[in-house]
Amino acid sequence: MQPVYFDNNSTTRLEPETLEAIQPFLTQHFGNPSSSHCFGSVAAQALAFARREVGALVGATPDQVFFCASATEAINWAVRGCRTRIVTSEVEHAATLNACAHGRDSQQQLITLAVDHHGLISLEMLEEELRKGESTVALLWANNETGVICPIPEIAAACQRHGAYLHVDAVQAAGKIAIDLSQLPIDSLVISSHKLFGPKGAGALIVRDPARVEPLLWGGGQERGRRSGTENVPAIVGFGSACARAALFLDERARHVGALRDHLESEVLRRVSGTWVNGDGTHRLPNTSNIGFDGVEAEALVGMLDARGVAVSTGSACHSSTHEPSHVIRAMTRSHRKANESVRFSLSHQNTQDEVEYVLEAVCSVIAELR
Ligand code: PLP
Repeated sequence: MQPVYFDNNSTTRLEPETLEAIQPFLTQHFGNPSSSHCFGSVAAQALAFARREVGALVGATPDQVFFCASATEAINWAVRGCRTRIVTSEVEHAATLNACAHGRDSQQQLITLAVDHHGLISLEMLEEELRKGESTVALLWANNETGVICPIPEIAAACQRHGAYLHVDAVQAAGKIAIDLSQLPIDSLVISSHKLFGPKGAGALIVRDPARVEPLLWGGGQERGRRSGTENVPAIVGFGSACARAALFLDERARHVGALRDHLESEVLRRVSGTWVNGDGTHRLPNTSNIGFDGVEAEALVGMLDARGVAVSTGSACHSSTHEPSHVIRAMTRSHRKANESVRFSLSHQNTQDEVEYVLEAVCSVIAELR
């Protein structure tokens, strides 16, 4: 059996159709989209098409989409030089936490809201902060470690009431749940190609008002003068293709992966004693299950599962080099121990029932060994 990949919140496998869409742009359609000859116009048309596809996934028009190299870059772009106080939360991705800490105007206050044991901020606390002055709110739509979904429509309404700017990290939400920017007062939103079965090297900052976007890179004036540098056409074409497929198969994928995740989660809880789900009882992405194993070092469990051909993680891939227990689980449980005992299983529509059965057997036998 091939190794089983249950780490789809870290990155995803390219779909064959997307690979097929990319290939001509690595070979015969290699032109620079800024060139005025036919090689350039083929690339420029592909870029325009991808911009429509990416926008359509989240209910945005093409002129609202600005391409860049990753969601991390888009997040830094969105909060860079922010001239208001920033309100964020303890469970954000490192890209937001660090961009808010280092990228903002340092004269401005940074407020980091606590979360409850479900991983959610309190709307009352948010509103209390918004009453104190002009604010930029930077929050996740869906958490990458637990899959917990924030009530973004309610948060957006609160921001609108208080005149706050709302920036949303929709990296994990896009392609897994429906997003319609045309119906919500969200000012900016970021998504990432490689999290939704597209290639690495493409991300997007998607904004309500394109006129408000400030330049990130100065140079030849690409991305309407906001991000100079020749566009990564093959990656952006793949990003567009992946978004089109995500929109087309959104419900089907969610149903398939939701059934697999629910089976995995309920069987782990049934077969293994001393287990719990981080973020249980809340609205969660259909693909993610973050499970705690009492008395088991999560790093050891991940390593032994890897030896049996099962790829899972203890949290964000960005933290795996630091070996610090997840800041997200610590914030939710207020327990260093529980954070050390929690493992993230993140599935995709590409997984199968046989793989779930294999992983269940592997988890049971590894836990028996470790305990
Ligand atoms: N935000 C979230 C919620 C993520 O899960 C990730 C990646 O792990 C990022 C941002 C950063 O995305 P990228 O790898 O495109 O920089």
